[in-house]
Amino acid sequence: MTNYNPSHLQHTSLHAIASSTTLIANASVLTQLPFEQQDDFDQATRGFVGTLAANAIVNAQGQVVWNLEPYDFLSTSSAPPTVNPSLWRQARLNYIHGLFKVADRIYQVRGLDLSNMTIIEGDTGLIIIDPLTSLETAHASLQIYHAHFAPRPVRAVIYTHSHTDHYGGVKGVVSEDDVETGKVQILAPEDFMAHAVSENVFAGNAMSRRAMYMYGALLPKSEQGQVDAGLGKTIPLGTITLIPPTDTIRQSGERRTIDGVEMEFLMAMNTEAPSEMLIFFPQFQALCAAEDMTHTLHNLYTLRGAEVRDPVSWWKTINETIERFGSRTEVVFAQHHWPTWGQAQILAFLKKQRDLYKYLHDQTLRLVNHGYTMLEVAEKIQLPVELAQCWYNRGYYGSVNHNVKGIYQKYLGFYSSNPADLHPLPPTEAARKYVEYMGGPEQIMQKARQSFDVGEYRWVAQVMHHVVFADPTLQPARELLAAAFEQLAYQCENPTWRNEYLMGALELRQGHAIISGTKTDSPDVIKAMTIDMFLDYLGIRLNGPKANGKSIALNLSFSDTNQRYAVQLENSALTYTPDKQFVQPDATLTLTRAIMDAINLGATTFENEITFNAIQIQGDKNKVLELLSLMDTFEPTFNIVAP
Ligand SMILES: [Zn+2]
Repeated sequence: MTNYNPSHLQHTSLHAIASSTTLIANASVLTQLPFEQQDDFDQATRGFVGTLAANAIVNAQGQVVWNLEPYDFLSTSSAPPTVNPSLWRQARLNYIHGLFKVADRIYQVRGLDLSNMTIIEGDTGLIIIDPLTSLETAHASLQIYHAHFAPRPVRAVIYTHSHTDHYGGVKGVVSEDDVETGKVQILAPEDFMAHAVSENVFAGNAMSRRAMYMYGALLPKSEQGQVDAGLGKTIPLGTITLIPPTDTIRQSGERRTIDGVEMEFLMAMNTEAPSEMLIFFPQFQALCAAEDMTHTLHNLYTLRGAEVRDPVSWWKTINETIERFGSRTEVVFAQHHWPTWGQAQILAFLKKQRDLYKYLHDQTLRLVNHGYTMLEVAEKIQLPVELAQCWYNRGYYGSVNHNVKGIYQKYLGFYSSNPADLHPLPPTEAARKYVEYMGGPEQIMQKARQSFDVGEYRWVAQVMHHVVFADPTLQPARELLAAAFEQLAYQCENPTWRNEYLMGALELRQGHAIISGTKTDSPDVIKAMTIDMFLDYLGIRLNGPKANGKSIALNLSFSDTNQRYAVQLENSALTYTPDKQFVQPDATLTLTRAIMDAINLGATTFENEITFNAIQIQGDKNKVLELLSLMDTFEPTFNIVAP
């Protein structure tokens, strides 16, 4: 997860109107989907207890972490021409916020973070499921409960899975002391910590940059800008924390009773997250679906960039849920969106979500085996009407199109098997050739404007991309490409697609924003990184060509944790061996884990700590400095829509 400086939300100039093609496309959505059904609005408002007194949540420094006020434009029920009506509907549902009663002894805070916090009343205290993304939003959410009910201590926290929006606010609901002294237990699925820490490290800088596109954090919140993030409104800008679990759930069928509340777990590993679990509450006939069954087609592939998730594990998990708990469940709630009540509705919901992932998986591979390539399969596959007409199967986070491409990639990778795709010219070189062959930029733009006028925005985007890459200084080309992106955005049902297009348009017009204070890691997450992971990341930062011909052997010794590593640069690759020391190293570094954490957090540098002897060096200090000089630093902004 990434924190952005909210002051950047000001520079924007999105003001285009919907074209007649976009108007027609969006109007036709109204006739294609069952807008008369109001169940979701009933369920999203059912059991309302209360909400924040003010719309905004601020941090200790008074900076706004969460603010719903900019979304006031969503109070009108009919969609404006610049927003797909299906997306407008979802954006309005995600705008419903506050504390809600789900069942006796079960409450949820929704709409005050990207995710939900579930509060279970034990015999003497509370059990919190998923304490949101940030300390501030979690704290404010628990306060709403305490404002309406007799305050009770938190007895346990459960992390359903390893994504930041499900653990980051833990220190807003419990203190590390209370966990250490055993007053509070923390439960998590197997491998939770490893995945919580690792998922954003290796490709972290690229993912953060790409996440800016996917979530549209720099876009204005408006009818022409960001309206939603599919799972919730947006990402909060607060403090991310983490306290390691004290109890690990490893197998389906495991049970725990905490403060009089019985729980039965179902493992959901390698579904929406690599480490995830569902929880059934037999006393309350209630099922927590974690993030596996929500009111959207979820991501098998994530546009910010991630490993493709396994649709087979996913449908099997939902199937097992039906088998184990289906006949005993009166309410199912998840850690995003609103609950579903009633046996018949729940069974339909679970089956249709299961069949959604099964259908996408099987039909993709069916077409793959007929010889269709990625773009062709993604264009061909449409959901059957029984699945497509269910609101919870619509693509507000995942989409049929990009999930199908993800499945293709999972099985077959990047190559289409057509040798024309084997070694194409990279974007800039190809763009120059295309533009030259097509008669130059003026001629292309003239034709592209005609295509724009008849609403062929996908094609305009495709061809104008070449013109911009051939000559990024050509402002009219950038503007035409931006205009095509904008109309595509206005037609998107999927808010992450909408955000991608609008961010592209914004950066084509203004260049990219200068990001200050971008922060991909929090102190708690850094502390939880293993030394192996740190050395892996150091290897990723090594500039291979610069390291040509160099050979450096170092011993690392951590005086506080008693860990030792032999680290070697050879052949422009940085490798390491734990529990080993070279007999004749170039140098031996003795340091503490705390110093390494401070370096990782950017609070200090290796060079600094060497100068002040906090890192002691025996041997050739220059070899250490030489290795450090070979490390790249990654910039939080790099070009995307222009070369
Ligand atoms: Zn989530």
